Amino acid sequence: MAVWHCRVCGLDYDYSPWGPNDDAPDYGTCECCGVQFGTDDYSVETARAFRRQWLNAGAKWFYVNMQPADWQLETQLTQIPERFW
Ligand SMILES: [Zn+2]
Repeated sequence: MAVWHCRVCGLDYDYSPWGPNDDAPDYGTCECCGVQFGTDDYSVETARAFRRQWLNAGAKWFYVNMQPADWQLETQLTQIPERFW
């Protein structure tokens, strides 16, 4: 079950890399957009900037072999938390 969505790309996670209170990032890497949790997704501005860069570069998966065969970029983008748009 998805409990968290990447602030940059909207990928769903079954845990929060930002911790239960959204304030303790684990500095892991998003398998889709490649953002490092706690750095480039720290604020709305940095998340937006990273997203723009990622989309401009073709929205490629950071870990290519983890990309689902039926992956839909547009659908995933709708999952980005509203306050990080
Ligand atoms: Zn991401």
